[in-house]
Amino acid sequence: MLTKSTANELGFGELPMDSGKGIKVKLHRGATQIGGVCTEVFTDKTRIFFDFGSPLEGEGNQDKLKIDGLTRGIANTDAVFITHYHGDHVGEVPDILPDIPVYMHKTAKRILQAQQEHKEILGQIVWAKELYELNAEESITIKDIKITPLESDHSACDSLMYLVEGCGKRVLITGDYRLHGFYGDKVMKTFKTIGHIDLMITEGTNIDRESPYSHDEKWVEEQFFKILRDNKYVFLLTSSSNTDRIAAFTRAVPRGKHALADVFQTKIMRIADEEREEALKSHKLWPYDEDKRDLYEQRGFGMVVRASDKFIPIVKEYFEGHPADTCLVYSMWTGYKKKSEMAKMLDIAKGKIEAIHVSGHITKEDLEQVVDIVSPRELVIHHTQERESNRRYINVPKQVYLRSVTDGETIIV
Ligand SMILES: [Zn+2]
Ligand SMILES: [Zn+2]
Repeated sequence: MLTKSTANELGFGELPMDSGKGIKVKLHRGATQIGGVCTEVFTDKTRIFFDFGSPLEGEGNQDKLKIDGLTRGIANTDAVFITHYHGDHVGEVPDILPDIPVYMHKTAKRILQAQQEHKEILGQIVWAKELYELNAEESITIKDIKITPLESDHSACDSLMYLVEGCGKRVLITGDYRLHGFYGDKVMKTFKTIGHIDLMITEGTNIDRESPYSHDEKWVEEQFFKILRDNKYVFLLTSSSNTDRIAAFTRAVPRGKHALADVFQTKIMRIADEEREEALKSHKLWPYDEDKRDLYEQRGFGMVVRASDKFIPIVKEYFEGHPADTCLVYSMWTGYKKKSEMAKMLDIAKGKIEAIHVSGHITKEDLEQVVDIVSPRELVIHHTQERESNRRYINVPKQVYLRSVTDGETIIV
C-alpha cells in the first residue's frame, strides 16, 4: 500500500493517476483560531490528515476533536502527517486510534520524544516513540495520493511543509513557517520551484499585524554576540525546543567563556545538531556542573535557562552577587511573560533584561510575497484569529482566489 520514493527522482510534476473523482479538503479546526489545527485531505480511496493539535489556552473552540474513523469508531484513516512538534499541532495525537500511522520528521520526532521523557516524571505520556519517521524530500504514496515532505523554517527543529498530489491536483500545506529564519533562502527556493499549485493552505498567525521592522534570526545572533561581550554572565530564557535560537546563542559565546545548559537541554541540542549543517550547529555546549562553579565564575558564561525552580536560584545568585556583570536575555513571545514562574524569573533580573526575539511565523509582508510567487489557483488561510476580514489585511494577486472557509466545510479542489 505504501511506496516510498524521493521527490528529486520523480520530480514534483509526476502525479498519481487521476481517479476522476477529485481531491477534497476539510479543515476540522483552525479556520478561525491559531491553535488546534487539523486538516483532512481525501479522495474516494484515501483519507489523510495533517496535524492534530490542541487549542491555545483560552482561544477558540477548546473541545477535543472527535472524528469518526480517526479518534472513534472503526479506524478508516490511512495516515496522519505532522508538520512540527508544537502543541498546537500535535497536542491531540494521543487520541488517534491505534493502528493509524502518524508520520513526523525523524529529528523532530526524537526531540519530541526527549521532551516527553523529560516530563515523564510529571505524568507526561511518552507517545512520540510510536511515530513513523520521515525525511524531507522523500515522497510517500498512499493509494492515489502522493505526499512529499518539504524542508521548512520555523521556531521548531526540522519543521515540514507538505505537497499533496492526487487526482491531477496539487495542494500545498505550509504548516508554520517564515522567511526570516536561517533557512529562509531555502524556503523561498522551494516556493519558486514548486510549480503549479491548485490550493495553498497557509498559516496566517501574523496577517493582522504590519511588521514595523525586518529583523531576522541573523540579527538575533548579532545581538547575542554583543550582549555576551558586554556582560560576563548571560542567561538566555527561551523555549527549550527553539534549537536554531539556542545554537546561535552558543555560537556567540566568546572564546574562553563557557556555553552552558542543563543535561536535558544539552541532549536536545545534540539531537538537533546531528544532521545540521556545520555553520548552524551549536558550539561547545556542555551541561552545567556544580563542581566547576569556580571556573565558570572566573571566566564567565552564557547559560540557557528555563523559568523553573531549578534555574531561578542560580539566576538569583548571580544577579545578587554580580549585578553589574549579569544580564538576562528574554528571547520568546512577550505573551509568556505573564506566566507565574516566568514573572518570578523576570522580577529577579529586573532592570537588566534584554528582549531579543523574532517570530517563528511569517510576516504579513512576506506572506504576500510568497502568495505572489507561488500564485496558487486558490488560497486558504488558517491558523489565524481573523475571519471573513482576511482580505482587509492581505493583498493577493488578482488571479488568486482567496477562499474563506469554516471548520467542517469541504472544499473540492
Ligand atoms: Zn509552531
Ligand atoms: Zn502553530
